[in-house]
Amino acid sequence: MAEARWLEVSLVVDGELAEALADLMARYVEGGVVVESGVRFDSIDDEGTPGGPVRVFGYIPVDNELETTRQKLESGLWHLAQITPLPQPVYRPIEDQDWMSAWKVNYHPIPVGTRILILPAWIEQDAGERIVVRIDPSMAFGTGTHPTTRLCLEFTEDLCQPGMDVIDIGCGSGILSIAALKLGARTAVAVDIDPLSVKATRENADANGIKTGLEIGEGSVDEVLAGGYAFSTAPLVLANILAPVLIRLIAAGMAQLVTPGGFLVLSGILEEQEPGVLQAARAAGLEYHARKQMGDWVSLALNKPK
Ligand code: SAH
Repeated sequence: MAEARWLEVSLVVDGELAEALADLMARYVEGGVVVESGVRFDSIDDEGTPGGPVRVFGYIPVDNELETTRQKLESGLWHLAQITPLPQPVYRPIEDQDWMSAWKVNYHPIPVGTRILILPAWIEQDAGERIVVRIDPSMAFGTGTHPTTRLCLEFTEDLCQPGMDVIDIGCGSGILSIAALKLGARTAVAVDIDPLSVKATRENADANGIKTGLEIGEGSVDEVLAGGYAFSTAPLVLANILAPVLIRLIAAGMAQLVTPGGFLVLSGILEEQEPGVLQAARAAGLEYHARKQMGDWVSLALNKPK
């Protein structure tokens, strides 16, 4: 029997845990982590039924470092399990050298809203009428599997008009800016406090053939307000972070980024955090426009009066 060349490690978790777990595993596996979506699609136009367990897996090379790597991974998992319960990882030796193709078939296209289709970078597929957004799922947060991203993308689809300027605070993989540009936005300013996100956004923009119209930088609300970018106000501002951070950013002037008559879309809000976020938004002069919900996650669209 051929010697095992890779050790597959996989855990089945709730969708909400998948990104944190994938981030952790990415440090120890080679070739990227796969998040096998808990969303079922029956056809290209099926918007998918979210929920259900998600399988997160990757491959560790079988070499002299294997045991050390495995122990580091186990220790990382132990730490994560202190925050939220985790199942034991399942290990499986893989003999096939062509493991890349083995795992790539497992990453599904993700239709979002009525017009967008998220595809992993390597898949060629007929998208029908849908606009394709290519994302490398092994990079920064924002692969399209997480409900907060999906909700924000749906609002982008609703609110982004051709020729519009967009500001994307906390761009992660760049998924929201890339989708906005593909929906016809003129320019997107995408910022993130994490330099890895800046890099991932640039790479994903390249993979989507976006050559102009995207300005990417390290920073947040302050840096955009300070005028370091193409514009410091826009009719559509997107921020998919987490409620406490959103509230802090509203206090730091995030509403000032929105032109009168424009929208601020906030995501990453748990249902019980919604009143607090709304209160902060109203105090900053914004009005409720619409909400979307998936599981416990809520996304809000707020309007700045003319
Ligand atoms: N926009 C992507 C990624 C969301 S994850 C999507 O919708 O899928 C949230 C991102 O916000 C992370 O990349 C994180 O680095 C960034 N972030 C966290 N706090 C921030 C802050 N105060 N200002 C700007 N970005 C922040």
